Amino acid sequence: MGNIVRKSSYIRAKKSLGQNFCIDERIPNEILKELAPNKDFCVWEIGPGKGALTKRLIETGADIHLFEIDLRMKDILENLCPKESITWGDFLEIESNDLPVTTKPLLVCGNLPYYCGTTIIKKFLEKGPTPARLVFLLQHEVATKASVPVNHKEYSYLSVHTAFFANARIGNKYGPKSFIPHPKVDSSVLIIEPLKLSDEERKKRIEILKYVSVLFNQRRKIALSTLKRTFPEIDWAQKFTYLGINEKARPENISPEQYLELFNI
Ligand code: SAM
Repeated sequence: MGNIVRKSSYIRAKKSLGQNFCIDERIPNEILKELAPNKDFCVWEIGPGKGALTKRLIETGADIHLFEIDLRMKDILENLCPKESITWGDFLEIESNDLPVTTKPLLVCGNLPYYCGTTIIKKFLEKGPTPARLVFLLQHEVATKASVPVNHKEYSYLSVHTAFFANARIGNKYGPKSFIPHPKVDSSVLIIEPLKLSDEERKKRIEILKYVSVLFNQRRKIALSTLKRTFPEIDWAQKFTYLGINEKARPENISPEQYLELFNI
């Protein structure tokens, strides 16, 4: 394990904040390679913790802004970045109007806490701002679900949600020994490139997701039966025929493009 670096600063990890600190240099290497920041970008890092990735981001010359909930990291992070480049508190609680104004194209990254990784991704994709790229380290299962295509055994509501707003692909997988304390599960890098959507189109897709979630709540059931039962006023059989969707299809057999057509009501 030549890539593992032991860090000296000791702050006891809080499980409630999803703190598994990175000790594997391959992770910042991969995030940096995929994010490709330079002085022409502004980079937001969510959950910098003790700064394992932050130091490397600073070296790229990009404008950096950090979002961290745990004030015990104050000394470490204020040693790395000016105070005004750090927002303390729960990233999910920050209103869109209170986010920093960026004068350059935005990139977003982070080794996200497991308990709210999915919510952070959904917040960016649904509410913005829309970065040029987002590169996160996440629970492997979440990164997989967010990036697989239709008919894959892991294809789920999150796959459709992500595909409605972005192109996503999975990077390398890292085991528990890449972090202290060791998490119980593997982690993977997820690369998200948002689509350029108008506000109106984005709102429409958010509405359509309500129907998609009805189907995935009963993912073992035949989609046509669920729709006929839940929304009887619509001729779903005719729509399925028109769109070439098999009448026996389950939610995992319907592509994001087909969902957009199906619920374009
Ligand atoms: N980036 C560091 C690393 O790789 O070693 C820390 C990663 S650790 C998995 C997650 C970090 O997110 C922690 O520093 C934690 O305090 C922070 N965090 C947890 N919940 C947060 C939230 N809601 N908003 C902002 N930061 C959060």
